Amino acid sequence: MAPGGRDKHFDVEDDDEFAKGAPGKKRRFTEFECPTCSAHNPVGDAFGNGDDIFCGYCGQSFVAEVDEDGGLRLKET
Ligand SMILES: [Zn+2]
Repeated sequence: MAPGGRDKHFDVEDDDEFAKGAPGKKRRFTEFECPTCSAHNPVGDAFGNGDDIFCGYCGQSFVAEVDEDGGLRLKET
């Protein structure tokens, strides 16, 4: 028996969310690389699956598609 009362076991870790698995389709992005002109585009408001975005350099617009693994794909519209 352990002397001196109760042991506390609070293993709260910041990476708890990662332990549950990838954010998947709900993942959001604050930047993307334009598939058309390869420009790097920071986005002020985070975007996610189904959102419309456009490249500030070449003007091409895209619909963001996020797959189950949290991977980002951009489809030209
Ligand atoms: Zn572009």
